[in-house]
Amino acid sequence: MMIHPEPTHEPDSGRLDADVLIVGAGVTGIYQLYMARQAGFSVRVLEAGAGVGGTWFWNRYPGCRFDSESYTYAYLFSKELFDEWEWHEQFAGQPETERYLNHVVDRFDLRRHIRFDTWVTSMTFDEPTGTWTVAADDGSNFRSRYVIAATGVLSVPFYPDVPGRQDFRGQAFHTGLWPASPVDFTGKRVAVIGTGSSGVQIAPVIVGDAASLNVYQRSANWCTPLNNAPITPEEQEQLRAGFEAMREVLNASTAGFLHPANERSAFDDTAEERQAFFETMWRSPGFSKLSSNYSDVLFDEAANAEWCEFIIRKIRDIVQDPDTAERLIPNDHGFGGKRPPFVTGYYEMFNDPKVSLVDLQLTPIMRITERGIETADGEQEFDIIVWATGFDFGTGALLRMGIRGRDGLTLADHWAEGPKTFLGVQTTGFPNMFFPGGPHAAAGNNPRYNGDQVEFITRTLTFLGDHGFDTIEVGPEAENAWTAMVDRGSGQSPFGEASYFFGANIPGKPRKYLLNSGGRPKLFKEFAKVEANGYEAFRLSRSSDGGDGRQG
Ligand SMILES: Cc1cc2nc3c(=O)[nH]c(=O)nc-3n(C[C@H](O)[C@H](O)[C@H](O)COP(=O)(O)OP(=O)(O)OC[C@H]3O[C@@H](n4cnc5c(N)ncnc54)[C@H](O)[C@@H]3O)c2cc1C
Repeated sequence: MMIHPEPTHEPDSGRLDADVLIVGAGVTGIYQLYMARQAGFSVRVLEAGAGVGGTWFWNRYPGCRFDSESYTYAYLFSKELFDEWEWHEQFAGQPETERYLNHVVDRFDLRRHIRFDTWVTSMTFDEPTGTWTVAADDGSNFRSRYVIAATGVLSVPFYPDVPGRQDFRGQAFHTGLWPASPVDFTGKRVAVIGTGSSGVQIAPVIVGDAASLNVYQRSANWCTPLNNAPITPEEQEQLRAGFEAMREVLNASTAGFLHPANERSAFDDTAEERQAFFETMWRSPGFSKLSSNYSDVLFDEAANAEWCEFIIRKIRDIVQDPDTAERLIPNDHGFGGKRPPFVTGYYEMFNDPKVSLVDLQLTPIMRITERGIETADGEQEFDIIVWATGFDFGTGALLRMGIRGRDGLTLADHWAEGPKTFLGVQTTGFPNMFFPGGPHAAAGNNPRYNGDQVEFITRTLTFLGDHGFDTIEVGPEAENAWTAMVDRGSGQSPFGEASYFFGANIPGKPRKYLLNSGGRPKLFKEFAKVEANGYEAFRLSRSSDGGDGRQG
């Protein structure tokens, strides 16, 4: 059992509920809680859900699982934790990940700092005292010096604007808000709307029990096999023995994965060699099809087209009905233009006579009816509709939290043209507020990026305490420079503007790149620079200064 230091920073004269108030108890919020406690701060976490886990609490749908290898997604701050937890699969399913996060919370005695079922509805900065007041939907209020919104990038489920959604008399579920009690698909006529990462995960898992399954596809995606496998006892031993080496590789990796980069270009190889290599890629695990593929496959049109042709041949080989196969071939983007899903048995599922593909490009949904779904082709009756229609990515949660900073500035106004951040951790006009794992944060294996930010934020809070400052706000120059870097870099991103990484799935959302263009090396470099120059990019002050602190 670990012994944890008691907080050394007491809340000011009892007026504050905590030094640090964290919103969200997902992977990021839990780590932030652990780190801030280790650094000696009093911490309170507010979480809308009834349990910990964030993504892995809400997305309980059958088939939900990682596309990151379990052990590279896990926390790496404690070798003991790594040794004692046994991941069963290369890509763990949701139940295992939720169990893991609960284990971490209890193992490090963190649960007592978390208040569940608490939906934050407003966060207001009080300039004279340099503190935040956070209000929740149950009427409770909390005051803290620092607020850390670990509210996630994929935590606001999105429904397309289809008329009649509320009219449906059967059962309807969004994959991102799945109920805790299991849904029984036995003998049911089921519709799955959406063929992004969640839709293509759930469909093959529920099809066995269902009487029929209709998959409603707006645009096809480049699905490739996840190639999941159990972790054998020998591999378990190797993982433990190789912990330090793995951590080093992950720390040096731009995207936070173990998959080695490939130096070769597609046309360094002959046509036969390319086919053999693509076959290796097809059989390789998860994201290695991006990370370890030919170095130009995501960036060179001809190389990308060759890889797409390979996948098209696979689709045609697997799917017996030629018309269904053709409709499953993406026609609006190349591989990587949108976040490519990884699948188990997805294409094969279409050979089951009870499965139909509905192409919404040919027959769009007109409305949801009491009995089912009406497309341009007529009405189809269902018992269950599954909405696998994604999330308001990146900014969704932050912009729904009623955040008001200095001079009453709302975050919604400040980000009206898209998010503006420095290092994806702070934005100008919102002193003492941080948002690890938010926009401009990750571009790969999320916990690795988010963890980097959490560690930087924790060091920053310690720096402030050690130097007698209690207010920190990034200056507009640094914010503009980082945001411009992200925007410029988006041009080199494989993801195109049709991707939800640009907000393309949300009507009216500014088309701004929401990931981190620079990768982890850029983040590390900037963190080091900030810390070496004593936080020049920030305005630091003491609340007793009346705001006239040091200008960064
Ligand atoms: C189905 C699915 C699969 C994924 N697979 C991968 C993967 O393989 N690899 C990968 O790197 N990433 C994956 N992701 C991305 C995933 O979201 C991140 O990896 C990670 O879980 C984010 O953790 P987080 O703590 O930052 O946010 P979250 O896990 O989203 O947690 C945020 C928490 O904040 C809470 N919250 C939000 N707003 C409020 C509010 N106003 N008041 C109170 N609480 C609030 C939410 O309830 C939630 O619990 C996946 C996402 C989904 C949806």
